[in-house]
Amino acid sequence: MHESPDAPADAATAASGYDPEAPRKPFNARGSFVSRCPDCRLPALNCLCPYRVAVESRARFWLLTHPIEHYKPTNTGRLIGHILPETEVFTWYRTEPDPRLLALLEDDRFAPFVVFPDDQADYAERVVGPEAVDAALADSRIPVFILLDGTWRQARRIFRRSEYLASLPVLPLKTSRLTRYRLRKAASSEHLCTAEVAAELLRISGDLEASATLDDYFEVFNENYASSRRHRQIEAPSGAMRRLLERRGGADGASDVNRT
Ligand SMILES: [Zn+2]
Repeated sequence: MHESPDAPADAATAASGYDPEAPRKPFNARGSFVSRCPDCRLPALNCLCPYRVAVESRARFWLLTHPIEHYKPTNTGRLIGHILPETEVFTWYRTEPDPRLLALLEDDRFAPFVVFPDDQADYAERVVGPEAVDAALADSRIPVFILLDGTWRQARRIFRRSEYLASLPVLPLKTSRLTRYRLRKAASSEHLCTAEVAAELLRISGDLEASATLDDYFEVFNENYASSRRHRQIEAPSGAMRRLLERRGGADGASDVNRT
């Protein structure tokens, strides 16, 4: 487990600006106030918005986000929608499936895959490989990666307790990539965070530009958030920052550099 068990699980967390993941100092544990950008929710000192750039992809993402995860500023699932505007985010409730998600699952234009490991025997017959994504594209359907966004335990719970996922093909992510996420301690360097999983899926399914852009955006999120924890502002733009600003286009990108 890499979550703090006492993290408040409601909207008050985001609204108050109190960051449950922040290093705690005895004298201001509860009273510290971080001024956050209302759009990207990063500390205003290192706002992510100037680097936000929309790209197109053949595949899409639907996130099923655990309610506790939803309000955490360190959540990386939300970065996917910043880069790929067609991303859908649903909050997962065990007893009440989102009717919009149920309708999308019935829509023949889409070929949805649940992204989940293939380490249990009882759903082995549902497991498919990346060739199933290629087949969907060849069939003029839009491949959709359903990401279960939460801790490992939360994701397993979502997978096991959502009837409407039970008939979908399961796509395990096979990658040798190691995590670069610095904001939470992963149980192992092989546990990728949600944005990294998305970037890998895009790469494997041939959306190379979208994959590279999301990777850069995630890297900037990582750098900016880590700097903010040290109460520092990033001064020299990194390679990832420069590439994102270039993608946003000359004049727009250049004027945004100074806005940070
Ligand atoms: Zn921002």
